[in-house]
Amino acid sequence: MNLRLLTSNLEAIQARVERAAERSGRDPSSIRIIAVSKTRSVEEIERLYLLGIRDFGENYLQELVPKIEILESKGIHLCWHFIGQLQSNKVRQLPPQVQWIHGLDRMSAAKQVLTRGTKSKCLLQVNIAQEDQKAGLEPESVLKTLETLDTQLALPIYGLMVFPPFSEDIGQTRGFFKQARTLFEDARNLSWKHHKIEQLSMGVSSDFEIAIEEGATMIRVGESIFGKRS
Ligand SMILES: *Cc1c(COP(=O)(O)O)cnc(C)c1O
Repeated sequence: MNLRLLTSNLEAIQARVERAAERSGRDPSSIRIIAVSKTRSVEEIERLYLLGIRDFGENYLQELVPKIEILESKGIHLCWHFIGQLQSNKVRQLPPQVQWIHGLDRMSAAKQVLTRGTKSKCLLQVNIAQEDQKAGLEPESVLKTLETLDTQLALPIYGLMVFPPFSEDIGQTRGFFKQARTLFEDARNLSWKHHKIEQLSMGVSSDFEIAIEEGATMIRVGESIFGKRS
């Protein structure tokens, strides 16, 4: 996608983020827009970088690694968010440039995160709509898992991530975000030795405004920035 279209898409999203924040009495600068660049070219990422975007999300290791390499060879250093399924056997291959891991959902992966040389900030993924075969912890096991991570592994967790299914029914989507917010508040109100529960990663192109109204601090936006994936 060319610079002109990317610019207008980005400006439109930033304006929508601001309005959603204002509607809910929030400071727009408390919401971090992550540009989800999976399947997008290095050139498109570079254009967004020129427009001031620094946070990028990727789902696949084999795509992320060469992108980082090319961009860094041009002196472009970005804040990378790994938002894909976090398989335990892949954790140690995550490049050190990954500063945020959004999809932690099992103990085996958490152990691998600990043995990885770099300290990335982890969010626990919650299967908030309790979908079959969807990644994430069951909502009712989140607090228990946080407890185990805090006391047994001493792995700090920085918040929660959810990715409910697309629904035509805005009320249903809002309901999932509300549940995530409640869980997030519950986790934040407990006292932990290691965790710093401060981020709630929720909302994609189709629902980020609702997510912001319900308390998202990070939104992950792909198609609204880059256009439909082919
Ligand atoms: C692809 C993806 C997104 C972005 O979705 P869009 O509909 O393109 O905005 C966000 N989060 C996760 C986990 C994804 O896999």
